[in-house]
Amino acid sequence: MIKIAIIGSGISGLVLGNLLKKKRIDFKIFEKRPELSINEGYGIQLSVNSIKILNLIGFENFDSDKLFNPKKVLIKSIDNQKEISNINIDYFNLKDEKYSCLKRSDLVQFLSQQIQEKIYFNKEIYKISKVNDKKIVLEFHNRKEIFDYVIIASGLSFKFGEDIPLRENFLKDFNGYFAVRGTTDKDFDFIDNKNINLFFGQNSHLVTYPLNKKKKKNSIFIFKDQKKVEKFYYKWRYSKEGIDFITEKLDSKLFKYNNQFKNLFGSKVTSLKWWPIYQSKSFSISNHKSLIYIGDAFFKTLPTMAQGAGQAIESAYEINELFDLKGEFRNIDYVEKRKKRINLINKRIKFNNLIFHTSNPLLVNLRNIMIKLLTKNRFFLKFYLGKIYKN
Ligand SMILES: Cc1cc2nc3c(=O)[nH]c(=O)nc-3n(C[C@H](O)[C@H](O)[C@H](O)COP(=O)(O)OP(=O)(O)OC[C@H]3O[C@@H](n4cnc5c(N)ncnc54)[C@H](O)[C@@H]3O)c2cc1C
Repeated sequence: MIKIAIIGSGISGLVLGNLLKKKRIDFKIFEKRPELSINEGYGIQLSVNSIKILNLIGFENFDSDKLFNPKKVLIKSIDNQKEISNINIDYFNLKDEKYSCLKRSDLVQFLSQQIQEKIYFNKEIYKISKVNDKKIVLEFHNRKEIFDYVIIASGLSFKFGEDIPLRENFLKDFNGYFAVRGTTDKDFDFIDNKNINLFFGQNSHLVTYPLNKKKKKNSIFIFKDQKKVEKFYYKWRYSKEGIDFITEKLDSKLFKYNNQFKNLFGSKVTSLKWWPIYQSKSFSISNHKSLIYIGDAFFKTLPTMAQGAGQAIESAYEINELFDLKGEFRNIDYVEKRKKRINLINKRIKFNNLIFHTSNPLLVNLRNIMIKLLTKNRFFLKFYLGKIYKN
């Protein structure tokens, strides 16, 4: 029997596991953490392209109280919180394929429930090498196992042995983007509880959206700064210097415009969740036909199009389609197709960054006029969002 390993139990690994299971193809998922990260309450937006795929594994039966289907993206300004324009995302929705917002933890729980016995925890892969042109060996800290196919779904932050002969030209980068997130049950007069609220700021933007039908909201604030990131930023961010840095940035870029913004993120600065956002500089492409990268491990984009998980789901679907019922992988076109898709999305992400973060006052006025026109132009929306949402 063909042996398939999936490295990582993030969204891409779990979706692929569910799809393979449906085809009755056997697999093992190796996860370095001791358990799934289901305690984290923060959110995820899923556009219709990903819902369409999730429905293949039963998402249409997902508890509807645990998700929200916003109809619009309300575009506002951080400085006066007034609406500039809005986008009708309902235009892209179908009866069973609707733009959805939910807790990441609820999604992960849904994705893991049918394949729990296939996930092996505390199994960090340290090294990947080829046995021959067909087989791959995975090294854990105390043993090795040989597989016919290895799918790397380990996100961007993995540390495999340096001597992987199987990954070409990979680079990751930090371009000064930071993310801050928080959730709240409170109401605000400048937040519409039923839609996605996207606020443009100076070199920054804020997104607040409903997580479920219980009025819980998720907020993500993204800002750009020249601050160099410490290698051990996860320790540094809760040091005095780290806390001073984030406090100053939030005060000057967000809270000074309306103190109420503070309440979106929880009560204490020390409990604030924030991190630098790394992105890929190049695609991960293996020169071994049995080693395949999916999700963020293939290419990680900035989050300004809410497509990271969407692309993780799409790439898992594409790989599953290429396995025939005997578990043989049939195609090498995956990489070319994936590159084309990511290039298309990444162009829009770069354009979004430019538009969301404009800070020159003259350009801001021009930007706002342009936004009003474009968001009401169906042809533009069909071209700009439709091409992404209707894969
Ligand atoms: C601020 C922010 C907001 C976002 N919001 C959205 C959104 O609204 N919508 C959206 O579509 N996307 C969003 N994204 C992007 C999205 O979260 C990611 O693109 C997506 O989760 C990637 O999934 P993945 O499965 O590829 O990787 P991950 O979720 O990173 O999973 C990788 C898994 O592999 C494991 N692992 C790593 N190394 C090893 C190893 N050596 N051995 C074994 N296991 C290993 C890890 O522990 C982890 O569980 C956002 C991203 C950011 C930064």
